[in-house]
Amino acid sequence: MGHLSDKDRRAYSKLRERQILMDVDSHRLNLSAGVILVACSDGDQLPDIFNNISHSFEGQRPSARIHTIALNGGALLLPANSPLVTSHREDEVLLEHIRVARELKGIDTIALYTHAPCGAGGMAGLTLEQEIDLLLSAKSRIKTELPDAKVACFCHIDRGDGKRTYFVSRSRWILMNMYPDSPGMWNIQGQ
Ligand SMILES: [Zn+2]
Repeated sequence: MGHLSDKDRRAYSKLRERQILMDVDSHRLNLSAGVILVACSDGDQLPDIFNNISHSFEGQRPSARIHTIALNGGALLLPANSPLVTSHREDEVLLEHIRVARELKGIDTIALYTHAPCGAGGMAGLTLEQEIDLLLSAKSRIKTELPDAKVACFCHIDRGDGKRTYFVSRSRWILMNMYPDSPGMWNIQGQ
């Protein structure tokens, strides 16, 4: 089982400070028909991810309805240029499974997950920030291929002394990359 590198620990603090990793407000996610969960298979982390998203159904459905699609690396397999995609075209495979899941189950909400530390991400030499970048590219890919789907991005962090799931703000990520030296920009409202 891996642990967060010092570099990723610093990135994690920065991403929290700049509100790119935000507390999950489950009311913002429409779970009335269920959710297609796209996450890494990691057996040390997936149970916690599953447990968290199960609780998000409270107030929306009498019981959780989670259609789980889990491959090593999870949503990081979706961007066509991801270093995790091999000649087997895992991006196409995953997309097809998402498409079929939508049709079979009538679920339009898709939750894309990355997590740290991730063995598959580590094997590809990815940092936490590169993983967040790929996660947001995964969202863009889904929005292009399945324009009617509702897509939200999440990041699960195992700090070693505790685990947390965060919502990932795409607009704040873009802002941080546009204005890397202006931390005052992070205090604007909205996401
Ligand atoms: Zn993983």
